[in-house]
Formats: sequence, C-alpha cells, structure tokens
Amino acid sequence: MPKLRQNPVTGEWVVIAPERAKRPDDYILPKPVPKKKTLEFCNFCPGGEAYQSQIKGAGTKHIYVVNNKYPAFVPQEGVVLDAGKVYFSQKSVGAHEVINFLDHNKDLEELPLSYLEELFEVYQKRINFHKENPSIEYIMPIHNHGAEAGESVEHPHSQLFAPCVLPNVIVRELDGASKYYKEEKKCIFCQIIKAEKEVKERIVLENDNFIVFCAYAARAPFEMWILPKQHHDRFEDITKNLRKELAEIFQVIIRKLYKGLNDPPFNFYLHNCPIKGKHHGLYFHWHFEIVPRLTRFGGFEFGSGMIIDVVSPERSAEFLRKVKE
Ligand SMILES: [Zn+2]
Ligand SMILES: [Zn+2]
Ligand SMILES: [Zn+2]
Repeated sequence: MPKLRQNPVTGEWVVIAPERAKRPDDYILPKPVPKKKTLEFCNFCPGGEAYQSQIKGAGTKHIYVVNNKYPAFVPQEGVVLDAGKVYFSQKSVGAHEVINFLDHNKDLEELPLSYLEELFEVYQKRINFHKENPSIEYIMPIHNHGAEAGESVEHPHSQLFAPCVLPNVIVRELDGASKYYKEEKKCIFCQIIKAEKEVKERIVLENDNFIVFCAYAARAPFEMWILPKQHHDRFEDITKNLRKELAEIFQVIIRKLYKGLNDPPFNFYLHNCPIKGKHHGLYFHWHFEIVPRLTRFGGFEFGSGMIIDVVSPERSAEFLRKVKE
C-alpha cells in the first residue's frame, strides 16, 4: 500500500510507493569504471589556469579554492532589475567558489580520512570568511558526484554557494523548525534523532557524536540525513575532534554507497543555521543531506512538488547497513 509521509521539519508530503518498483537491489548499477584522467590537460590540476588563480589562504595542504569562472552569484552591488506589479528581479549578488582537491585521480571513496577532514575544515573557513560580508544571507557548501548528479568538471571538487537571499528550502526548514519550537519548546531535529533512536529501523550508522539515518519522508532511494547528536546550530563552530568524527562517518557512508550500489551519482549539501537572525540557533540544528540520484522526476513531481519514492527508507537503511565498507 502506498503511504503518504510528511517531512517533519517542512511539512512537505512524499509518497512512499515501493510497489511501483522496487527492491533496493534494483538500484545496483553495473560495475564502476575505475577513474582515470581522460583529459590531456586539466585546468584544475596543479599548473592549470584555475590552480594559479587560487584564493590565497583559503585552502589546506591538499585542497585549494578558486572563484567559479561562471558564477551563479557575483560579488557586486545589489541592483534591482525588474520591479513592476508582476515581475521582480535583482542582480544575483554573493559568491560562488570551487573547492578543489589537488589530486585529480582519487575520488571521495578512495581518499584518506585526513582529506575529508580537510574538506570540512575548508567549508568552515569559507563560511567564516563569507559571514563577514553583509550582502550575503546564506552559505551552502555542496558536493556533486557523477554526471547525473550535476558534476560538470571531472576534477574532484566541491562548490560553495553564498547568495544574497535565503534559499527556498532553508526558508521552509526555518519556518517549520521555529513553529515547532514555539509550540513544543524543543528543537525538531533533536526530537527526530530521539524518534529515530527509538525505532532504530532507519538508522544506517552512528558514532559517539553523529547519527546517519534514511530520511522518514525520503525523496529518493537511500536519501540520508547526517546530524550531530547534541543540539548544535553552526557547522563552522565544530571542534577538530567533531570534524574528525564527521569525516569518519562520511567516509563509511560514501564507501557503502560506492560498494553497495557501484558508485552511484549523488549530491550532498550542508544545511546550516542562517548567518543573520537572533533566535534561529535555538531550533535550527545543522545537518548534511546526502541524496543518491538514481531516479528521475516526472510530471507529477514537478507539477505537485510531491515526490514518489519507490524504495521505502526502512529497506534502504537495511540494505545500507548490510554493505561492508
Ligand atoms: Zn585535474
Ligand atoms: Zn537540535
Ligand atoms: Zn535539511
């Protein structure tokens, strides 16, 4: 029987309809092709044009940062372009950076733990940097893996988007979390963790300070949320120890996806507490969401904003728990 489930933060509906497909095994891809450098010359490798224009002091030993050559957000004065009775438009102000690993040939699942720690350290550094810019409203590091997940350059990289407006999804999460806080005087995300620990069936992995589970109202097979177990609002404030634990749990998850599903395309992104606004930290609890891109949206998904997920989150979690990384 298909079930309607509601995202406990945003209130958005999804349909969990496993009868329409599928067992988790149906999403195992053919064997992954070993990554090789297919380009003769890569701009992002040491010596390339991008490498040479890196932002000083932004990187770490194995990672460097550059401004995106074709930015979605530009560091300019805000200008309203259209403000009639119907349409509104303004210049897309902010920052858009590319966070590159020095090594072209190793993908996330092959990287040593310390490189993942460095990646999160760079996210922290860049958030702290852009926070000082009054025209920026939000800062979101993201990672695309695989062409179907939007990876357009083969050199391994994350990106950082820092727009002058709050992204729509963050507005919805913030509204939902503040409404819950007003009614219950509790953080909805802390309550979700508690609920997941009670039922256990969607938990994929835990360590001392982090929990990973398949989202209750998942929008895709194997969608996972990664949260610090203790209430914490700002990712950029995490300690070195927490960063290490986060890297450990990420490494296991990425390797589970790689081994279990044969290198599926995926996206992950940080949902962090917005920079501005006094009370958001009481109810916003930072988290990563990691979403494998194994299904496509049809007309109903676009037309209704309601996604039909054909693998139940419980079966996704069971599958992932069994994969040995
Ligand atoms: Zn390269
Ligand atoms: Zn919390
Ligand atoms: Zn979120």
